[in-house]
Amino acid sequence: MAKLIIANWKTFLGEKESLTLARKILSWQKSFIKKEIVICPSFPVITAIKKKIGKVIKIGGQNVATEEAGALTGEVAAKMLADVGCDYVIIGHSERRRLFGETEAIIKKKLAIVLKNKIVPVLCVGETAVERKNKKTISVLKKQLEVLQDLSFKKIIIAYEPVWAVGSDHTPTDEEIAQAHLAIRTQFGKKSGLKIIYGGSVDENNISAILATPAVDGVLVGRASTKEDFWKKIKNLNC
Ligand code: PEP
Repeated sequence: MAKLIIANWKTFLGEKESLTLARKILSWQKSFIKKEIVICPSFPVITAIKKKIGKVIKIGGQNVATEEAGALTGEVAAKMLADVGCDYVIIGHSERRRLFGETEAIIKKKLAIVLKNKIVPVLCVGETAVERKNKKTISVLKKQLEVLQDLSFKKIIIAYEPVWAVGSDHTPTDEEIAQAHLAIRTQFGKKSGLKIIYGGSVDENNISAILATPAVDGVLVGRASTKEDFWKKIKNLNC
């Protein structure tokens, strides 16, 4: 099964830079056609990026509103994402939890609304450095995954993203990644529509080793995915 690569461009690239990178990716489209790749650009450029590379690569949102519609200044609803061709959306990213006070209750609402709109959620979970030091990783993951209870889903991505690894240039060992992924897999059993991917300081130098870990179904990549060198690597990657 092809490994999934999700690029989270966060708030790094403006319109010009996003389109320049998309143009580059498009010029290599033959190498991407058999790969499972999702790009999550910033909201204002989703339509332009979709138009440019939407046939080769899937598009996702980086966030979504908790409600269907209404007086929610600044929010983007799930249906709006679906309307502009998003097949995926990131939910519960550690930056959203930490900087924007996103709670489990908010995350649960977002998951429900996204599933209702037939978008695949990419649910991010992961422990902090302190929790890791106190050997709480597995219990933290279990607790964070409780948001999926009572939700029915055919397809979902769980991104194991240790908070201390995101944006830090530090990654867990391949063994630690495998352990966390196996713990998540054990919690859900063999669901064919569930993919468990790793995120946190993945780049063109470590991606091959991480993807070679059997328990890893793919990666979620932030900073590195905004650089041409990363896509050059993906282009030549057999995954
Ligand atoms: C992310 O944004 O999900 C992420 C993993 O960021 P980075 O690759 O920059 O650590």
